[in-house]
Amino acid sequence: MDGALLEELDGWLRIPSVSTDGGDAEAIGRAAQWALERVRAAGGECELVRSPGANPLVVGELRAADPASPTVLIYGHYDVQAPGPLEQWTSPPFEPTIREGRLYARGAADDKGNFLPLLHVACAMARAGDLPVHVRVLIEGEEEIAGHAVVDWVRADERRADAAIVFDSGMPDPRTPAVTVGLRGIVMTHMAVRTGARNLHSGAYGGSVLNALHVLAGLLAPLLPDAEGRVREELREGVRPPSQAELASWQRLPPGALAISEVGGRPVSPSAPAEFYERVGAQPSLDVNVISGGEPRTVVPADARASVSLRLAAGQDPERMRAVIEGLVRGALPAGAELDLSFHVATPVLFDPDEPALRLAAQALERACGVTPVFARSGGSIPIVAEMAARGYPVIVGGFGLPDDALHAPDESYALASLAWGEAAARELYLALASLSAG
Ligand SMILES: [Zn+2]
Repeated sequence: MDGALLEELDGWLRIPSVSTDGGDAEAIGRAAQWALERVRAAGGECELVRSPGANPLVVGELRAADPASPTVLIYGHYDVQAPGPLEQWTSPPFEPTIREGRLYARGAADDKGNFLPLLHVACAMARAGDLPVHVRVLIEGEEEIAGHAVVDWVRADERRADAAIVFDSGMPDPRTPAVTVGLRGIVMTHMAVRTGARNLHSGAYGGSVLNALHVLAGLLAPLLPDAEGRVREELREGVRPPSQAELASWQRLPPGALAISEVGGRPVSPSAPAEFYERVGAQPSLDVNVISGGEPRTVVPADARASVSLRLAAGQDPERMRAVIEGLVRGALPAGAELDLSFHVATPVLFDPDEPALRLAAQALERACGVTPVFARSGGSIPIVAEMAARGYPVIVGGFGLPDDALHAPDESYALASLAWGEAAARELYLALASLSAG
């Protein structure tokens, strides 16, 4: 690995650009400025785009020598999670430290260390005059607080990109690079039930008045998955099955039984471990996230709350599924009870592994890492990827994060081997994507 990359990363990680818990506005500005200066020093154009009340977006462009080259949009985020209790860190979170092949610091993996190779290599190639694609740089400062500025920017940008690369994801194990071709969507439902002015005594009123927790249990009942863990038919509408190429590549992932047991989980049914990757990547799933209300004494509760997340598989329509949930819940509401419902939704994304940009990316990763990458689906959602997909950009969602990077936790770290793969992959990706036709 190029020592300059590690040195640059060290400098960026020393800026405590926390966006959560109110954030650190001064450091946020400095981390954005740091990235802007990298692009300008490499001869590119760059500016900080500020929308009211939002952390600045770093937006830049490094031009290829050949003006007819295709344009590749690279995305990352410079904001980080708050470090949490400092005494749980072996070394201070904003003093990057190398121990046993890993770089420890807040943001080492999420996302400065994962993203920086894309920027570093583009700048180095631009300085040397051999950048084979136009690289459009987009780095946001509100990923950890789900800010909207970056999604709005992508939606409003009138220029087109021929492909995008998002390094904010990972690989299943240190030997297997991955391209994430699917991201599930979500319908998040918050419900609040009220059945009276105040909690009442269960001796004096029990059996005569509505009980908010009973009502809530009745609202949840039609949503719950069956004993096999499968959601009801109406909530499966639109699901598109995985392709042969995906199914074949999942054979190379660690066994599902191991994936479940290593985090202390227990299978929902005997068939679940063998179907693990299909279940978390390519099927919808519903989970009650929290139920609250009442108290541990003889009351009839007057209010109760619950949150329920429905993860959507590729092909499903979030607005349609939101309406199905609303219908099921409202249909179970007894007379006299009040229900407050609120939702937020995100669209699922699926890229075809046979699409030219994804095929080129897989070949590039194989050259960079010496291993054929797997086409993975992630159970999570990345709103910016959905927006890029809506604009018609093929997105290469990748990166070299590993399950033990401790994202969002004390002692976050990034493997130096991941950083080296990131650097090699960035170079090979730019070279490979140069053969896309410019739109
Ligand atoms: Zn994060």
